[in-house]
Amino acid sequence: MKITFMGTSHGVPSSERYCSSTMIQTNGSAYIIDAGAPITDTVLRSGAVFDDVRGIFTTHCHGDHIDGIFHFIDLSQWYWKNTNYDVYLTSEAVINAIHAVLGAVSPGAKFPEDRLRLHIATPDTVFEDGNIKLSYIPTKHINEHHLSAALDIEIEGKRVLFTGDMSQKLAKDDFPKVAFEKEYDLIVCELAHFGIPEVMPYLDRVKTKRFCFTHASERKFGDIADLAASGKYPFEILHPKDGDVLEF
Ligand SMILES: [Zn+2]
Ligand SMILES: [Zn+2]
Repeated sequence: MKITFMGTSHGVPSSERYCSSTMIQTNGSAYIIDAGAPITDTVLRSGAVFDDVRGIFTTHCHGDHIDGIFHFIDLSQWYWKNTNYDVYLTSEAVINAIHAVLGAVSPGAKFPEDRLRLHIATPDTVFEDGNIKLSYIPTKHINEHHLSAALDIEIEGKRVLFTGDMSQKLAKDDFPKVAFEKEYDLIVCELAHFGIPEVMPYLDRVKTKRFCFTHASERKFGDIADLAASGKYPFEILHPKDGDVLEF
């Protein structure tokens, strides 16, 4: 599989980093995890094409994880008419917002719901096609009324975990427990709402080949580099920037 980090900034973009978005490609298909980056542009610049996209999965409703989705679906509606994919959003309000935006920018157009399928994700959501099995695992990033989730992915016989955003200072102990139970090939962990000291007790317990920090503000870059250089853990510690690619 090929994983392209399309947006690695924290809650706001920087001059070099967009907000959260990652693309996974396998077998001629593409799956997008969060859409805080301008994914219309980042997907094209990564060499993928719209028609390859099979699914867009959002971890929660905050703008730094979904803002790019409106433009992407707009172009899928009226220009890239061979697009055919599922989109998982964490509230009906977001789905209503998509319809409101598209209704405003393309008055009178009928939304092609047969090929652009908008779903509300729940704590039990599992998406499965011939390439990928993706499960939502609730976290405690927002509150009990608004779903936020980690995404647990099985693909090519391997496992990838995206933690999504979690609680402030990890005080609600919502680091996904599956990370201690299953063997992962890659864990992608946010670092916006806590620092290296708060996440280290979890690093002691995870089972993975690679552990990747993303969604970190610049003041934490030095701590990530120090940890990566320390050799303290039996897995690789990575801190990708926008455009970086992992293949395994
Ligand atoms: Zn975020
Ligand atoms: Zn958030």
